[in-house]
Amino acid sequence: MIPNPLSRLAATRRHSLLAAGAAAGLLALPGTAARAQYGGGGAPAAAPAGPPQAPGFYRFKVGAFEAVVVNDGFWARPASGLVRNAPDAAVEAAAQEAFLPVRPMPIPFNITFLRTPRALIAFDTGTGIGMNPTSGTLRANLAAAGIDPAQVDLVVISHFHADHISGLLGENDAVVFPKAEIAVPTVEWTFWTDESNVGRVIEGQRGNFPNTRRRFAPYQARIRRYEDNAELAPGVRAVASPGHTPGHMSFLVADGDGQLLVICDAANRPELFLRNPGWHAVFDFDGAQAEASRRKLLDRAAADRMRVTGYHFPFPANGYVVKQGDGYRFVPGEWSSAV
Ligand SMILES: [Zn+2]
Repeated sequence: MIPNPLSRLAATRRHSLLAAGAAAGLLALPGTAARAQYGGGGAPAAAPAGPPQAPGFYRFKVGAFEAVVVNDGFWARPASGLVRNAPDAAVEAAAQEAFLPVRPMPIPFNITFLRTPRALIAFDTGTGIGMNPTSGTLRANLAAAGIDPAQVDLVVISHFHADHISGLLGENDAVVFPKAEIAVPTVEWTFWTDESNVGRVIEGQRGNFPNTRRRFAPYQARIRRYEDNAELAPGVRAVASPGHTPGHMSFLVADGDGQLLVICDAANRPELFLRNPGWHAVFDFDGAQAEASRRKLLDRAAADRMRVTGYHFPFPANGYVVKQGDGYRFVPGEWSSAV
């Protein structure tokens, strides 16, 4: 099968598109892509070929708050090698059962923003510039959504993987959030700012140490550390969900009757990791701990019928969770023309 992660185009266009994809590094080796995404390195890549997609943002209410999910493109990587404790054939079968391409498979990036009466809040910052050829659409989608990063009051970081913190900086490492306070999990900060921990992570993640130094450098005076259960803003509370990284956090947003659980990377693609919550992603620092966190969060979301957003869920990356067998089923939220 010819890998074509960009779109299903007519066969007559395939050759030119593949050529463009190859030129843009789209068909780079998986290890390179892994380093580029999670290691914080990688050379800048060209924009994806072809006509642009419709703007990727979607609004919904959480009580009187407004959540806005904004898309930052995707990463195309093989389904094989994604799960540490399941055979590739099982992972590919699960993806194919969900009609996902597997060679490569798209891993989407979606950032949740929140407007409250007092603040504009971002949960993580996206991939920044040039992480891979099919990511980096956040800026254009923010503009389409009418969100100016300069107006963001608070950036809440879930964890320090490159696809979550690299968007702190733009072209030439310019500050993207000039007035925001940056809230970081204390455990995460302690771990990734201590380079003596380099031997504790897989090789593909070692770039996260220099990337942490680089991305937070211009924000030093505005960094606030937070712990589990901290109230980050009125109606926004931290929920510890460690394992994916040592200090990974999720967030509970509550206003009136509205509740939203921003689960970040407690689960990657739902077609794989909600269906099979016992699967341990290759990026997880501690797979067993990540699984325990995932089950706890998803059980809560299912029991309370809470809406969730997932960073790597398919756009618009929001919906509900139902318990099913030993796992969960993801039910996408109703798309509504009314906010
Ligand atoms: Zn991620």
